[in-house]
Amino acid sequence: MKNLNKNEISKILENALEEGRKVIPNGHVATYIPQLGTVDPNLLGITMITKDGEMFTAGDWDTRFTIQSVSKTISLAVALELCGREAVFSTVGMEPSGEAFNSLVELDLNSNKPYNPMINSGAIAVESLIIPKASFSDMLLFSKRFCNDPGITLDEVTYNSEMAHSARNRAIAYLLQSKDIIKTDVDDSMVLYTRMCSLSVTSKSLASLALLLAVGGVSPATGERLLSTETCSIVKTIMLTCGMYDGSGEFAVNVGIPTKSGVGGGLLSVVDKELGIGIYGPALDAKGNSIAGKVILKYLADELDLHLFS
Ligand code: GLU
Repeated sequence: MKNLNKNEISKILENALEEGRKVIPNGHVATYIPQLGTVDPNLLGITMITKDGEMFTAGDWDTRFTIQSVSKTISLAVALELCGREAVFSTVGMEPSGEAFNSLVELDLNSNKPYNPMINSGAIAVESLIIPKASFSDMLLFSKRFCNDPGITLDEVTYNSEMAHSARNRAIAYLLQSKDIIKTDVDDSMVLYTRMCSLSVTSKSLASLALLLAVGGVSPATGERLLSTETCSIVKTIMLTCGMYDGSGEFAVNVGIPTKSGVGGGLLSVVDKELGIGIYGPALDAKGNSIAGKVILKYLADELDLHLFS
């Protein structure tokens, strides 16, 4: 990262937000979960926290929104901690799928394992591994600690809205059961998966989670080790290769910041050993990534020299 003073960094953040705003009219909020369709597409916020604890914010940084697929990173981390690497990767792969996040085609035709833990099939399978070891209350507690945010709650309205429109995820879950990949109760996995997607966070919660991953698992806020360095390394690597749906390769080349996105408009971005970035921008591009968020990250990567391989 470039060595700049606080004012210079704040200015770059403001400029990045303005660049992002320009593309919002080209995006759309997700509507397949009806509650997400009621959100204002013009919301846009960012938080960036450095390893030394400096925090920079801009725009709607403290607006709460549902974490959606970004929670797949938390579930993967917990599964790795509680079940171990072997158990996780004998159930789910680590390869990009090249398919949409809610696809079941490749799982049905080509594989007896979901491609990776960042797509729905993989994440639902990961939840089934967690279920014998941790309840939703445990997962909520883990999420609050990883995100350094005691204010995280279950957004019941979004949860109910998604559960009422969950035919596709149920189809995925039953396909997983038919292949003996899910060995616990299918409904339990669906419920835990959907609850994890419905956690309400801010861009600051995501920046804190990203920083925890960036520094290798010791909470910068409390000094407590919350995750092993191995878990952090696996999660970051899978974010780089699979975190931006079927746009992950292009994003890795152009921006080079391991990132996980969610259809609620959240982005969790890790600048390894340096900083955590959280973004909220609910207008999405055709692949389901925050359209303004991607522009912001590209701007920051260029201006602050953040590309992993720069
Ligand atoms: N809860 C959403 C779903 O399963 C999450 C999708 C996403 O953010 O990619 O459809």
